[in-house]
Amino acid sequence: TAYYDKYDEPVCLPEQHISRHPPPEKAKAALVVLIRNSEQEQMVGTIKNLEQKFNKNFNYPYVFLNNDPFTEEFKAAMKAAAPHASMEFGEIPTQHWSYPSWVNQTKAAECRQNMDAAGIYYGGSESYRHMCRYNSGFFFKHHLLDDYDWYWRVEPGVRFFCDITYDPFLYMQKHKKQYGFVITLLELKDTIPTLWDTVLDYAKSRKIDLGMSAIAGKSNSKSLFPYFLDESNQYNLCHFWSNFEIGSLNLWRSSQYQDFFSYLDQTGNFFYERWGDAPVHSLAAGLFLTTDQIHYFEDFGYQHDKYRHCPSKESGKGCRCECPSGTTDQSIDHDKYWDTCLPKWKEWEKISN
Ligand code: GDP
Ligand code: MN
Repeated sequence: TAYYDKYDEPVCLPEQHISRHPPPEKAKAALVVLIRNSEQEQMVGTIKNLEQKFNKNFNYPYVFLNNDPFTEEFKAAMKAAAPHASMEFGEIPTQHWSYPSWVNQTKAAECRQNMDAAGIYYGGSESYRHMCRYNSGFFFKHHLLDDYDWYWRVEPGVRFFCDITYDPFLYMQKHKKQYGFVITLLELKDTIPTLWDTVLDYAKSRKIDLGMSAIAGKSNSKSLFPYFLDESNQYNLCHFWSNFEIGSLNLWRSSQYQDFFSYLDQTGNFFYERWGDAPVHSLAAGLFLTTDQIHYFEDFGYQHDKYRHCPSKESGKGCRCECPSGTTDQSIDHDKYWDTCLPKWKEWEKISN
């Protein structure tokens, strides 16, 4: 086979190739992990897996972030899991992980109690809300990320099943992508009662063209926004699952996103409701990006909690995938799982091309 040194396209290279012909170029990118000290063990498993499948050949640095100081034990465990990887450990500034002045904390506590009593997932958790707000509005401002343009979000416990023998950051850069996902699914309605209306109000007040005429196949706008509409032009609850993201840090640092985030934040509903960073990122992408700026990493085998994506045989995508074939874990790609949005995504991509 011919000498191959292009790493910015999804090729499947033989194991030994990359050590002989290392990638000639690197993106300004980091693997970003928001994590608690208590998640050490799960993270060791994830690091070993990610190094094995991808990073041993590409050597991107890890940036660990925490609202508490990392323990020496935690740092030592991460370094031991990937002795050759470069790692940085950062504390989150208090002003990025606390209540803004306009939020009524008594009301917030009552809302948590009510949502907990209603059995809403993480409805009673205060820390979860700070986490979602941090991932929505602040992580990209951390000084340890100042030198980077791209991030790959990694969570403790996730698994990758295929070899990734190309550089997804260079791929994104080359193809002018801004945001990449693996799993798209339905959000829990009760966590975001007023998010959709707030987004519509925002769009109206800023005179943003939502590309509404693109629905029903009559596409004359390339806006991503209509992907999120149902038959009656309400939110269909689809979003990109944010435990995996490969994206542009500058997208979130842009003044338009900053303006959008403060508009959302002013409502206090990261705390009174339980707005997730996933629907916030997704709907922002809907407002500010075109469909072709989104990339579906169909070739990545990936699992978070119970949900897994594996490249199908028919797609011909993925490199030496070793996806488990169990009955306990669900593959989100099957239509029979009520909460997948993948069929909708594929249809939307087709229409908007
Ligand atoms: P889920 O994926 O929605 O079930 O939420 P997780 O519990 O996995 O949290 C999402 C991410 O934020 C993971 O990377 C967690 O390690 C991290 N995380 C969640 N809560 C906290 C927290 O209070 N402090 C820190 N430092 N990280 C957190
Ligand atoms: Mn998680």
